[in-house]
Amino acid sequence: MTNSLTELKDMLERVDLGRFIALARRLDLPKLLKTLASLDADDVTRLLAAAHAKHSHRPLPATNGDFYDVASLLAPEERAIRERVREFMAREVAPIANDFWLRGEFPHHLIPGLAELDIAGLTFKGYGFPGSRTCLLEGMIAEEIARVDVSTSTFFGVQSGLAMGSIYLCGSEEQKNTYLPKMRRFELLGAFGLTEPNVGSGVAGGLETTCRRDGGTWILNGQKKWIGNATFSDFTIIWARDLGDQKVKGFIVDRATPGFVAKKIEDKMALRTVQNAEITLTDCRVPQSKRLANANSFKDTANVLRMTRAGVAWQAVGCARGAYEHTVKYVQTREQFGRPIGAFQLVQDLLAHMLSQLTAMQTMVARLSQLQDAGRLTDEHASLAKVFCTSGCREVVSQARELHGGNGILLSQHVARFVADSEALYSYEGTKQVNALIVGRAVTGFSAFV
Ligand SMILES: Cc1cc2nc3c(=O)[nH]c(=O)nc-3n(C[C@H](O)[C@H](O)[C@H](O)COP(=O)(O)OP(=O)(O)OC[C@H]3O[C@@H](n4cnc5c(N)ncnc54)[C@H](O)[C@@H]3O)c2cc1C
Repeated sequence: MTNSLTELKDMLERVDLGRFIALARRLDLPKLLKTLASLDADDVTRLLAAAHAKHSHRPLPATNGDFYDVASLLAPEERAIRERVREFMAREVAPIANDFWLRGEFPHHLIPGLAELDIAGLTFKGYGFPGSRTCLLEGMIAEEIARVDVSTSTFFGVQSGLAMGSIYLCGSEEQKNTYLPKMRRFELLGAFGLTEPNVGSGVAGGLETTCRRDGGTWILNGQKKWIGNATFSDFTIIWARDLGDQKVKGFIVDRATPGFVAKKIEDKMALRTVQNAEITLTDCRVPQSKRLANANSFKDTANVLRMTRAGVAWQAVGCARGAYEHTVKYVQTREQFGRPIGAFQLVQDLLAHMLSQLTAMQTMVARLSQLQDAGRLTDEHASLAKVFCTSGCREVVSQARELHGGNGILLSQHVARFVADSEALYSYEGTKQVNALIVGRAVTGFSAFV
């Protein structure tokens, strides 16, 4: 008994009595002591570590959406170009992206800055282009842009991929020399008109828009739908079926051409910043000099799409990455039950799932671009990546929204825009089913399109 009293006296001398009394006022002290006494040493150590973790100021790890350091595949000079794009997006686009998206307006003031980056038609050879840049860099640039704003990356993809790509792959030397340098500097803006109100996935099977030769001109009639940038672009590449030989041909149709009307689609719930148009062509007369000289069948159109589908896969990586990175920051700071939600096991499980999906997508598109750089890209390579990455993106952005709780549906918390925009990535440039059919045809030898 004497020993116990002496021990108690020693202990009390080491206890801050003020704190002890404050604790006793807040808690059932006998019950607390009983609970603590029932714990083993490991439990107590863990309890103390958890209690201290909340108050410790140890630096949290920086957010990194490139977990396997895919960027290290770029040469230092190419990394510097990517870095300039990243800075531009952070400085010029991130602060305004939600506002323009909400209002459904396009930030035309960004165009000179984008032109200054000199990244349009990056991989083209000849016509004044550097000629030495890789498809890998081009892909990572698409990722960087989409990581901040998928609308900006779509605007850029239409100009640099679909419109410039059509001229680069299907134009005459004269057309390439006339258009490509100006488009590279964004002095001329283009759009790409393939899809129609009644013909979407089935474009290879029969366009309703027609062309008919009349001496030195072609007469175009029909409708197009979803055509990005077409409300303000200087011209649209219009794909039409020749009433003569029934083959698909391409035309550079100026916006001012009589009979050409582009009306903005207003009620979109994705990519609201992109100005998508419904186009009506009524007896549009286009000179032979503006017929894409080497577009003689849908196979030529498909060559353009093969190139740009790889870009859409990279955009999906960027969209998923943007949402993932915002989410990591959010879970590090948002607290529930007295601690950051990032400290909960179930939250970490979701984050690990998001990161594994994102990393799988990134490594896949990096290999895709390497194949492209080696001149080995096939339709099925591009389609597989498009399907996998846009599906994966949809999953990642949905989990990002989930981890933001209610805040996940607020534009101001950033991930909501990615959630909406991922829906457009999933469907444009060939839906999941159409790209899966391209893969299925390649691996089985059977076409299951119709
Ligand atoms: C935001 C946005 C921007 C776009 N920008 C452009 C642009 O700039 N230029 C342009 O030309 N087009 C553009 N598009 C069009 C886009 O490429 C088409 O939306 C897409 O190809 C699908 O066509 P659709 O919408 O008519 O769908 P549909 O073809 O009607 O398909 C509807 C559904 O049926 C499925 N389906 C169709 N056929 C089959 C089949 N054989 N087997 C199984 N399932 C099938 C589809 O997968 C889909 O789920 C854009 C679209 C969007 C949404």
